[in-house]
Amino acid sequence: MLAPEPRLDPLRIGRTLDDLAEIGNRYAGSEGEARARDFLRERLAGLGLEDVRLEAFQYLSASGAHATCTVDGAELECNALQYTASAEVSGEAVYLGEATASDWARLDARGVDVRGKVVVAHSMFPFDLCGLLIERGIAGFVHVCETPDGIVGNFAGALYPPPLEPPWEGRPLPYTGVTIGHGAGRALISTLTAGGPVEVRLGHDARYAEATAHNVVAELPGDGDGHVVVCAHYDSQAEGPCVYDNGTGVASLLECARTFSERSAPRRIVFIASAAEEIGCWGATAYVHAHRAQLRDAVAMINLDGVASAYPAQREIWSADAALAGLADRTARAMGWVPNRVMSVRSTFGDHAPFGDAGVPSCLIWRPDYPYYHSRGDVRELVDENAVAQTASVSAALIDRLARDGRVRANPLATGR
Ligand SMILES: [Zn+2]
Repeated sequence: MLAPEPRLDPLRIGRTLDDLAEIGNRYAGSEGEARARDFLRERLAGLGLEDVRLEAFQYLSASGAHATCTVDGAELECNALQYTASAEVSGEAVYLGEATASDWARLDARGVDVRGKVVVAHSMFPFDLCGLLIERGIAGFVHVCETPDGIVGNFAGALYPPPLEPPWEGRPLPYTGVTIGHGAGRALISTLTAGGPVEVRLGHDARYAEATAHNVVAELPGDGDGHVVVCAHYDSQAEGPCVYDNGTGVASLLECARTFSERSAPRRIVFIASAAEEIGCWGATAYVHAHRAQLRDAVAMINLDGVASAYPAQREIWSADAALAGLADRTARAMGWVPNRVMSVRSTFGDHAPFGDAGVPSCLIWRPDYPYYHSRGDVRELVDENAVAQTASVSAALIDRLARDGRVRANPLATGR
């Protein structure tokens, strides 16, 4: 008979969220990142996990940017769009909506050439746009973020896949970019529609340098065939305590490690607290590269990222692997966590991407739509540990099935249900 489904403890998750909020910002290369790494190593060792270790990798760090954006002589508050070129550029501004295929088609139908110009566009995931922006030969990119309260968020202009070694091909991007706030974005669009070309000047002085970061890895042994990978990134974007993204994933990872250390499963479970995710999924990609041979017997990878907040949000399951998406969906429904969407598509916005691309079925179960995403407004008060525990318990139940059920086989995932 199967043991009852694991339920993660909201109180313990809440206390870890407090600890992480106290550590504060954990941007790659910062002191907070180092403190979070030490915190995780101690907590995982304290839970009695085996082979708790740091795995170092090289990446191209982005730091120290002062950014400017000027329209009609007026300065707009802005942040550098990470991994865009450090330079000052100016050009005629072209508004591109959300830079979707239909936005590009509309521009093309009007014969607008954006080469050498400054594109203005809204996006949750500005890194998704870099391929087309490079192809179109733009000079600059003004990314309008949707963060409320006039807050300007922090975003990467390029994410996945990151280059693995020098010369860091593709980083930085050939164009310069900044992020501006929602209010400034509206004012800029208003200026653009008032008639006549509008010149925008933008720039930043971001420094890009080779650096070392560390994934924290620990294991729970099992003598069954295959293993399950559980991953949460412990770095954050550049400002604020970033409690939702990804304090929630880290707290859930630790609570999963504690829960599974107290109930044996036939399969080995590997826990990874990954580094430098926000600026390129560098840590998870490095892990996949270093462990490619071992990953051939990985049954699945479960990504814990942006688990839940205090805001009402959609319940979503993302997995490029249809069988794993189906198993996650059935597991979630059986627990009363009914997903609003099950996205069985390849996605590149998080640490599941490199695992999926390496043939390991990968899954993210989360509640997105967090208004303070990637901003200094992502604070402890806006994260509800009960919502986190509820959503992460679905991941835990899925991990339990994957670690226990002999009918679930590695690569490609095949299940008897
Ligand atoms: Zn994240």
